[in-house]
Parts: sequence; structure tokens; C-alpha cells
Amino acid sequence: MHKTPYKRIATEEAFAPPEMLYIYRKILAKDDVDPGFKGLMGFYMSSPSARATHIMRCLTDLDQVRLQHMDEAGIDHQVIALTAPGVQVMDKATAVSFSQLANDQLAEAVRKHPARFTGMIAVAPQDPVAAAKEIERGVTKLGMHSVIINSHTQGEYLSDPKFWDIFAAAEAHDVPIYLHPNSLPKNMIEPFQECGLDGAIYGFGVETGLHALRIITAGVFDRFPKLQMIIGHMGEALPFWAYRLDYMHQATVKSQRYESIKPLRKKPSDYLRENFTITNSGVAWEPAIKFTQSVVGVDRVMYAMDYPYQYAIDEVAVMDNMQMSDEDKKKFFQTNAQRVFKINI
Ligand code: CA
Repeated sequence: MHKTPYKRIATEEAFAPPEMLYIYRKILAKDDVDPGFKGLMGFYMSSPSARATHIMRCLTDLDQVRLQHMDEAGIDHQVIALTAPGVQVMDKATAVSFSQLANDQLAEAVRKHPARFTGMIAVAPQDPVAAAKEIERGVTKLGMHSVIINSHTQGEYLSDPKFWDIFAAAEAHDVPIYLHPNSLPKNMIEPFQECGLDGAIYGFGVETGLHALRIITAGVFDRFPKLQMIIGHMGEALPFWAYRLDYMHQATVKSQRYESIKPLRKKPSDYLRENFTITNSGVAWEPAIKFTQSVVGVDRVMYAMDYPYQYAIDEVAVMDNMQMSDEDKKKFFQTNAQRVFKINI
């Protein structure tokens, strides 16, 4: 990979401790296992396909395999998070204790390779008070500066005020929350799964975009104006929807059609511009990146590879070759991530 006048920081990269896969196997063996979880991790953990075995090998490594792949792809630094669904598919007590174990493991890998890795804090939304405490521990004891939440938690959304201790902690400690996709909840998955479109191809984006929008329309950013969130996959298409969201939100407020759609201090697109940073994970596509920059600004769009799910070396060169000023390209690949995740390399 050729030298560039910027470092390449990939910001939505995944890992899975082997101990988590052990817990997943026990959950997958249950009769009432969630269909989305079964379709996602049930597949990757049992398929003999080259794609699945590659992903499982890379996910469980926080050392030489990962570093070698980063070197081969020209990735200087990874921002790493517990892969979906993380602890959110576990029972409450297991989720709380396992999030701590996963964070300790990730922090250890970061201590070993500080120039190459940054970690996100995993939390268990099942217990918002414990999640808030883990954010505090992650920041003050483990030196981490961002939080990963893998979309819905067993069908529940962070737009519900019962989860807002998590937002309060993130705002107080000045750490962004990365809202990453999860498999679709069981009351949503059927029409997607019957045609094979429930996964990363489409369903993930629909569900995570819905989740981010629910957080906006619930008034979370009026309550926590300094809260920052990150969404991947080119903002789960929300920038493309911005005009219609703004128009129809004010029309719906005026019509008083829904109790849950209340007036907000700003337009939905204003929150996208002021409270979100967007990554291009899985979307190595110049027109979509430039469009998103035009909607939310060049300071709020950053690079992600989505390793190991989309370990595509040729995409790095495509991004290097975008028709974009060196200054903006450096923001995209390096300095936006350094600011958002407090990375000093
Ligand atoms: Ca991902």
C-alpha cells in the first residue's frame, strides 16, 4: 500500500472474545432463540464457508492476525468494538459482567498496541445504571473514549427514557456512542428474512436508521444537547432522507396525529449535523461519501473498513483515489477520527 499524506484510521472494526462465543453457543442451543441472532451468529459460528471461517478467525484475534491484515491493507489504526450483538442478546446479569470482561480484554490489547488500536466501551443496556457505571469505568480506569451499542436490545430502543442514564453518562464523560447495527428484532424480521434481505445487505441499515431516528424524534438531543453519536454505513441512509424527514416531521407535529411525535427545538436534519458523525463502513463509494459530506459537513464524515466483515483491500485504494482535496481527505481518514475518539498517534 502506497504512502499517503495522512494516516488511515478505520473506525468501525469488530472483535469477539472466544468466551463470548461460548456464551453464544449456549444461547443458540435454546429452543426459543431469537431468529435474527440465529440467522447472524448462528450462521457465522457454524458455516464451513471461507467467508465465515475467515471472519471467525479474525474476530477473535487482537494481535498478529489483525496487525498483519492492517499492514496488508495500509490501515494505520483500528477503532475496535465488541461485535454485534455484543452482550445485548444475553440475560441482564451475564450481559453486565461480560461487558466488563470484554472491556478489560480490549483495554489490554490497546495497552499492548497503543499505536495501532483504540477500544470502544461495551455496555449492557439491559441495566442502564450499570451501563452508566461501566462508561465511567471505561473512561477513568481503562482510558477509552467511546461507547458501542449494537442497536436494539431484545426489541427495545434507546428512545425509551428508561435507557437515558446511558445518554447522561456519555454526555457527562464527553464520549460518543457508536450505534452499530444488530440483527432485526423478532417482530420486524419476517418480511426481510423470507427474501434474504434481513442482514447487512439492507435490513441492518433500515433498523439502525430507524433507531437513530427514534432517538432524534424522542427529543434525546433536546434533553442531552452535547451528546454525540456515530452511525455507520453512510449514516444508514438518513442523510439521503433529510429533506423528507424535516418536511414530514413538522407536518406531523402540526397535525397532532401521533402522541409520540412532539415538537423539537430543531429540525431532524439539524441533529444529524450537530449530534452525529457518520462513517462510510461498508460503503466505499465516492458519490455517497461526497453527498453525506455536503449534508453534514466534511468534519463529520470519517473512514471505516468494517473489518473483518468487509476486509476489502482494493477499497482502500478506491478511497485514496477519491477526487477530493488532500485537506478533506485527511479529515476523512485521520483527523476527524482523532478528534471524535481522542486518538493521539
Ligand atoms: Ca460493522
